[in-house]
Amino acid sequence: MAERAAEGGAPIPELFGRVGHILVSSLDLDTALGGIVDQALAVIDADVALVHLLDRPGQHLKLQIARGLPAEAASEVTIAPGQGLAGRVLLDGKPRHGVNLQRDPRTHFRALAQRLDWQSFVAVAIRLHLQPIGTWLLVRRRREPFSAQDLELLSSFADFASLAIERSWLLHTIVQEKHESEAVIDASASGILVVDAHGHIVNMNPALEELTGWQLPQVRGELCCDIVGCREAAAGSETPGICPLRLESVEERAFVEYRIRTRDGRWVPVEASYGLVHDEDGDLARVVIVFRDITQQEERNRARAEFIATVSHELRTPLALIKGYATTLLSPGVVLDDAKTRRFMQNVNSAADRLNWMIDDLLCASRLDAEELHLRLQPFDLRLTVRKVLSWFQPHASRKELIGDLPAEGLWVWADPERVEQVLLNLLTNAARYSGAGTQIVVQAQLLGDPLRAVVHVIDQGIGIKAEHLPRIFDRYYLTDQSRKGIGLGLYICRGLVKAMDGEIWVVSEVGRGSTFSFSLPAWTRPEGAGNP
Ligand code: ADP
Repeated sequence: MAERAAEGGAPIPELFGRVGHILVSSLDLDTALGGIVDQALAVIDADVALVHLLDRPGQHLKLQIARGLPAEAASEVTIAPGQGLAGRVLLDGKPRHGVNLQRDPRTHFRALAQRLDWQSFVAVAIRLHLQPIGTWLLVRRRREPFSAQDLELLSSFADFASLAIERSWLLHTIVQEKHESEAVIDASASGILVVDAHGHIVNMNPALEELTGWQLPQVRGELCCDIVGCREAAAGSETPGICPLRLESVEERAFVEYRIRTRDGRWVPVEASYGLVHDEDGDLARVVIVFRDITQQEERNRARAEFIATVSHELRTPLALIKGYATTLLSPGVVLDDAKTRRFMQNVNSAADRLNWMIDDLLCASRLDAEELHLRLQPFDLRLTVRKVLSWFQPHASRKELIGDLPAEGLWVWADPERVEQVLLNLLTNAARYSGAGTQIVVQAQLLGDPLRAVVHVIDQGIGIKAEHLPRIFDRYYLTDQSRKGIGLGLYICRGLVKAMDGEIWVVSEVGRGSTFSFSLPAWTRPEGAGNP
């Protein structure tokens, strides 16, 4: 066959040489496949060539290449597997031919064949790894049948076509997978660093760029140790940390914690894990290091440890007091008069109260965290609550003047009265704690805005709060550098309770002049025609 010349065309070797050239020079499916079809038409005398390929799910045959088909007719040659002539060829892989396409009962687009006067035809399957993936139909506008040699040639061309298709599909898959991994790497919230087997930086994702302050083009090819200089977790330690260059034990080093250096010389605590990429010979080609910034986690751990220390200390103080008085009272030979005993017992009582409040605060905070707070929402007059809390708090105000500035009219809100008392008490306790003797503490309440809200201000003339503390003052365990006693839960609880009752809480403060803590609650308006609640 290599000696033969195709009928009316180039010798076979030359022809296949051209096809080979097409295959190596283009990865684009339409270019390569179209070129092969054109080569086939140069040696097989046909008026029309249609190549249909199965789509990826393998459900539809899509017209991929058409020669000799008027553009407006393209929509008429769509076929499903099993349907029509091409569909049958696809199903069983066997070629079909005949001399009257218009009359052939297997023809799917008979009307088109009649309109365009299509007569003689041959259809072969295009197979990939023995599986039919498409069909190739040649048509003549005359009854002259296709010869056995035409059929043989067409089958060879169909094999070349399948090579072009496979290459293009493979390329498509590789490109798609590359785009997918790039998207995953780019979108990852964790920092990702890729280094070669010698530790030179190959890639870095945007999250790591943000974490380190470096841009990939500035550090590509640099030794990763020179850039991120990993160090053991101990702050400021100069001991080299886990380095991808010390590869012998890299596999064991999943989720190690250490610090990496940023461009501006800061050390960021990270948790790192490694992935190793080997080449075909099994040699290490790349190390992928995934960094997770654990600054916040470290901060939380530190705050938790500090909190436990503070709570233990705060609980121990009243306990020590109780224990001290009890030991004195129980000591043999100690005889106290009634007045002294009573004073002792009052001190024991208020120490026990303090313990109780602290435990209440701890429980309330944990309920807020677990979102297990049960509220008894109801309408009530906020003025009564404010008056009640003020009179209750009076003995604890330690020489501060307490003033209630309340409207003459009822101030109805929709909230949980006990929880509102708790918020007011917390704010008053702080106001008294951080104000000097002889100053005033004013509780002001009014209805404001649309929708109508009740707004309560607790105004003190105390030490005030530095501006730098204000953004975090309502955070859990937050204590300022001026804190006197306390576990940093009071304002956290206030915010949690107010928010749970659909209100807002905020603070305005000036160092040396005092603070105003304010909160709002939904106002309650009596439904038309309803009596008293
Ligand atoms: P705690 O329950 O320990 O009192 P809080 O959450 O109530 O903690 O308060 C947190 C910190 O806010 C306090 O340690 C204090 O430094 C500051 N603070 C709260 N209220 C006032 C206030 N009225 N004046 C000045 N500082 C305040």
